[in-house]
Amino acid sequence: MTYVITEPCIGTKDASCVDVCPVDCIYTREEDPQYYIDPDTCIDCAACEAVCPVSAIYFEDDVPEQWKQYTATNKAFFKDVPASERTFRQRSERSAQG
Ligand code: SF4
Repeated sequence: MTYVITEPCIGTKDASCVDVCPVDCIYTREEDPQYYIDPDTCIDCAACEAVCPVSAIYFEDDVPEQWKQYTATNKAFFKDVPASERTFRQRSERSAQG
């Protein structure tokens, strides 16, 4: 299973989730509208869900009906975007920003 980032992330991209993910599996690119969770790496720890300021993150089974398609959207990002193009902002970089 995995956690899934849904519609409220669009236009927000707060990145608090990136800071707390213990396995560094949340990615995006500059041109993407939201962050995405790699379902093959996520360990279902729920840390990201707790810190998201717009409640965009849900356990796969709990994704609201109107946002069910985001499970596939998150998964597709890691299939479609080469690893070399994915941006990953290290937690240490965010901390340095205060
Ligand atoms: Fe990372 Fe845990 Fe969120 Fe999965 S549930 S994306 S491992 S913080």
